[in-house]
Formats: sequence, structure tokens, C-alpha cells
Amino acid sequence: MQGKHDIRIDRSKLHPQLNYKLGLLLKKCKKKGIYLIVTEGFRSKEQQDMLYAKGRTVPGNIVTNARGSSYSSQHQWGIAFDIAMNYDIDGDGKVSDDTWNIKGFQRVAKIAKSIGLGWGGDWKSFKDTPHFYLKKWGSTTAKLKQQYGTFENFKNTWSASVDRGMGLILWKDALKTKKILRIPNGERVQVLYTKLWYAKVKYQGKYGFVNKKYI
Ligand SMILES: [Zn+2]
Repeated sequence: MQGKHDIRIDRSKLHPQLNYKLGLLLKKCKKKGIYLIVTEGFRSKEQQDMLYAKGRTVPGNIVTNARGSSYSSQHQWGIAFDIAMNYDIDGDGKVSDDTWNIKGFQRVAKIAKSIGLGWGGDWKSFKDTPHFYLKKWGSTTAKLKQQYGTFENFKNTWSASVDRGMGLILWKDALKTKKILRIPNGERVQVLYTKLWYAKVKYQGKYGFVNKKYI
């Protein structure tokens, strides 16, 4: 059977670095014949409130302890996604009975951690096996709240404009050995992260490095 990833989220709403790592994860999983359903990504305050109501004011089981207004879900900051399994793990010829197969999650977690993602299955108090996230701010949203205050402030760091008359070279690597292209002045780039002299950015579908002074 030909497997396939099933992406049910709007990837453009994720933090650019998370979206990049999700892309890597999907590629690496596919190579091993592991296929995923990506079920959850960014969640607005309203969406988080609807989720919070589940098992409380509307029928169903309780699935979260985070109210929308608390911004304590990593999904509200665009730094997490949830997955389910989309391949035959137990070898019975069916896929549907493997959606929550823990063996699948463990396999994926191993790959995800090798590319620097955090896994909710490693949490001590509340294990969240479908949940993967950017580790930079820890396993809670406390640091994000402290550092940025609001999601809007945080989101403003996800992109920037080139501010250099002659444009800005997009390098393939941080050692500046190979040029990809020159980004014209005033163009917007997505910012994955900044480090030393550079920023890793995405421009016109291409990933590379630019001098962070000029964005
Ligand atoms: Zn989650």
C-alpha cells in the first residue's frame, strides 16, 4: 500500500522554524515508511476556548487545561503541532486501528528529537504523546509570555524587511561559501532564528542565511 502524509493544518500559521522542522520530519518519516496525520497546529484564542469547553460546558472528554485567555497552550503561540499515525504499524493490513499506536509515536519522537524538536511524551506530569514543539522557550509558555507579552509581539519577530539599498545576499550556508540569490531591498523574509552575525530566513520558498544587520 502506498502511504501518504495527511496534513490537516494550515502550515503557514506555524512559527517559520517549526514549519521548517515539520517539513524535515515529514521527509525523514517518509524515508522510513512512516506516515503521519498532522491534526493540530496554530490555535486562536477562540479555538482554544472551544477546546477548553469540551468536557466542561459541552459534551466530551476534557482535553486541555488551558483557557484561551491564559495563552498557556504552545499551540496559541504557533510553536507546536499534534500528530496521529497514518500507516499500518501492527502489520494487520489496516491503518485505522493504528492511529494512536504508541510504537508509532515513539518512532516519530526519535526522529523529531534528532532534529531538535521537543516531545510532549517526555513530559512528567501530563504526557501528551501527539504533541511536538520548538524547545527554545522550554516546555511551557511562561518564557514566551514574559519575553513578548502578547502573541502579536511574538509574531512580529517571525518576519522582517530587507533594509539595504543594494539588496541582501541569501547564502546557502552560514560560512558564506555559496550564494543562492540576492534579495531586493524592501522585500519581506520569514525569520527562523538569529545567531551570531546571521539570520536563517525563508524567501520565495528557499531557505538560507542573511546578514542580520540588514533586516
Ligand atoms: Zn498539542
